Amino acid sequence: MIKIFVLRVRAFRTVVICVRRSSARRLLMPARETEAIILKTFPLGEADRLVSFLGRTSGRVRGAASGARRIKNRYGSTLEVLSHVQIWYVERETRDLVRIQQCELLESFHKSQSDYGLSTGLAAVSEISELVLPEHEVSESMFRLILLTAREIDRTADWTLPLSYFVFWTVRLGGWLPRFDRCSVCGEAFGSGPAFHGAGNPGLLCERCRRPGMRALDEAGRRLAERYTSERLDKIAAGEAKERTAVLREMSLDWIEYHTERKLNTRRLLETN
Ligand SMILES: [Zn+2]
Repeated sequence: MIKIFVLRVRAFRTVVICVRRSSARRLLMPARETEAIILKTFPLGEADRLVSFLGRTSGRVRGAASGARRIKNRYGSTLEVLSHVQIWYVERETRDLVRIQQCELLESFHKSQSDYGLSTGLAAVSEISELVLPEHEVSESMFRLILLTAREIDRTADWTLPLSYFVFWTVRLGGWLPRFDRCSVCGEAFGSGPAFHGAGNPGLLCERCRRPGMRALDEAGRRLAERYTSERLDKIAAGEAKERTAVLREMSLDWIEYHTERKLNTRRLLETN
């Protein structure tokens, strides 16, 4: 009788221990680690920050960095826009936000982050990336593109060419680039003539099909776009074609806004810079 009772007690305790272990496992999921680019941060409560980052192996993730708004905090300057970092975080089953545990700076773009004009360029890259990148989807090509753009803005102390290249490639990677050799409406070849583009239209149109308010992209502009696809960014000199660089940027921004059905907030700031 006593023996049976002891066994029952043991069995009961074993069960209790099992339950505790499995619930502990649920609460403490293993920390993940990834190389990442900080896309954006927002204040979260009084002391924390909400951080959106693009992890090389995790895709775009949103997390909470506790205590990041306190003057003395363990994150330092790692959470600045487009900082290249190594990040450790824990996923929580019941919440959308991961918990950021640690963040170490791999590469800082301090010069651009602390300059108003240059930081506008970084902010545009951040806003567009947030818009086009689905959550939790790994994108090695966008990761490399964002990093390259931030590096070139910082290196050249000028956002105009890097941003133009960035938005053009974002359109290309999004599969939104129309044909550059013939009209999207009637199919006629542009030859050496101009092509036309404008907000609210995803294509390039010929002289006959162009709509009111559309702007011209001449043959040299189309050749510059061709160079974007085949040459390294640091091989394309910024001073060479300032106006066409701006045309390609505006055109790509129009297409991004068209396909995402959103107006970019940073676009207005770019115009005043
Ligand atoms: Zn046409």
